[in-house]
Amino acid sequence: MRRILWISLTLLLLIACRTLLPVPEPTATLTAVPPTVTLTPIPPSPTLTPSPSTTLTVTSPPPTSTPSVTDTVTRTPADVFTVRYHPDGGLYVGDQVSLEVIAPARFDQKDTSVIVEVEIPERLTFPAAKFTSFGIQGRQQATLIWVWDTRNLEAGDYTLTFTIQPGGTTWSETVRLQSTDQLPAGEANAQWATVTSECCVAHYFTNTAGERDITGLLEQADEEARIAAQQMGITFSEPITFTILPRVLGHGGFASDEIHVSYLDRNYAADSWYMVLHHEMVHILDHRLGGDLRPSILVEGLAVYLSGGHYKPEPLLSRASALLEPYLDRYLPLATLADDFYAAQHEIGYLQAGALVQYMIERWGWEAFSAFYRDIHPHASNSQALAIDAALQIHFGLTFSELEEDFLLALQGQPDSMLWMEDVRLTVMHFDTLRRYQQAFDPSAYFRTAWLMDSKAMRERGIVADYLRHPNAPINQALESMLVTSSQLLKKGQYAQAEQILSAVNIALDASQTGEENPLAADPLAEDYQGIILAAQAAGYRTQQIFLNGNQATAWCTAESAELVSLNFSKERTGWVLVNE
Ligand SMILES: [Zn+2]
Repeated sequence: MRRILWISLTLLLLIACRTLLPVPEPTATLTAVPPTVTLTPIPPSPTLTPSPSTTLTVTSPPPTSTPSVTDTVTRTPADVFTVRYHPDGGLYVGDQVSLEVIAPARFDQKDTSVIVEVEIPERLTFPAAKFTSFGIQGRQQATLIWVWDTRNLEAGDYTLTFTIQPGGTTWSETVRLQSTDQLPAGEANAQWATVTSECCVAHYFTNTAGERDITGLLEQADEEARIAAQQMGITFSEPITFTILPRVLGHGGFASDEIHVSYLDRNYAADSWYMVLHHEMVHILDHRLGGDLRPSILVEGLAVYLSGGHYKPEPLLSRASALLEPYLDRYLPLATLADDFYAAQHEIGYLQAGALVQYMIERWGWEAFSAFYRDIHPHASNSQALAIDAALQIHFGLTFSELEEDFLLALQGQPDSMLWMEDVRLTVMHFDTLRRYQQAFDPSAYFRTAWLMDSKAMRERGIVADYLRHPNAPINQALESMLVTSSQLLKKGQYAQAEQILSAVNIALDASQTGEENPLAADPLAEDYQGIILAAQAAGYRTQQIFLNGNQATAWCTAESAELVSLNFSKERTGWVLVNE
């Protein structure tokens, strides 16, 4: 009794309408009334015409991030350096293996490097790798990218030796290369594919949800690009390049000179794909328009505002007002936020930034805002807050503090702060939990040290596993499915149920931290998710989403392909069992 779910195209077109989306459900328990939402108005189409001499070419900022972490994590004998192997999710013959050698805290990296050798059985020495800062976090590590070509090796155990220079600290560890017939479902024949549309060049992977839904995704990309260009008053002189990632990295989107955006059935970060894409497109167009110094708070605020919200359509001023006293009391002073934007609590920072940009555009109009925004210059102190302050005085005759006072008055004047308190509080809890999950069970996905590679080089070398493979054990499937459910409940305004799920995820994470062998057993809800996932796995399926209703559940699953299958489960005395297939 298989039932294939043709969710993609209809869903995508609905999403493109910028309405609050009902989440498609098989039999769901997730009926709910969303709070009354006033959608943030799309800003008027500005007339910001770049002069004819403006070449809208993309310069190439360094990749947002580079290396990160794997499921194969070991501590050195000295328990000082941590080594992580890529691709994530286990190594297989044929992989181009990368390594991260992560230094301990307070490590003096100056002129320090690591030499790695592997016995295959003759000794192979990789080029020395220096310790440098990695990712937004600036973690100290030596990163060896695609140094070990395993294509002609036999499956089995291999010993690697690490030597830190100078100093000579050395240790060895053993890794296992599994045979190619053990590769995760769908990975053996997956390849890069490329398609072009009106706006974009899209790269994706065959045999994934991205390929399955590519027609709708491209139509949506064209629509988002058209709106973003209109919002920013420019026309395209060259296509936008984006890569559809089949795994979650960070919160689902990155932009440098290209966009990377996650699209998968178990997207536990942001399932409004079109909003993430729109956000990143704004970054690309914004970058092309240029500016001496574009402070992070305004860069992100502009992207949030022009997308109509951060992860979902949202009334920015109302939601930001819920951060104030006497509500959540989590408002971040603007100067502090501006000076270290990415270290601030992520969702609060982005919400305030989006609300601030909306406030400024509503007060002064798009053209005046844009003229100010593109005329900010670095301050001698390197403080972005002081740079903003100087430009504000020139363009609007007020200081950053005075702007904040006015902004706070506008927030205090919002009539519906109370209505949004739970939504904002639980959104923060959801994403804090999500990042906690990533750091514990999928550290390469954690945004401050995400394993985002040079995708062009990956395509040229035919490497797919760095993006395609990722930790996918039952505990990953369970905790990610729970986060997906939490996100759906939040969208529907079912706050108590969302909090219950998030608490369950946190209980499991606590249990894992204290070394529990089966962390999911620490919470009955988490244990239910685990039971369903194990029953699906026994029948040859991977679980993507679960809709739990007491002792009954429906799950969307996949097997060898990206085709979604709806399966029903029942909780018996012996545990969860699959009742139809
Ligand atoms: Zn952004």
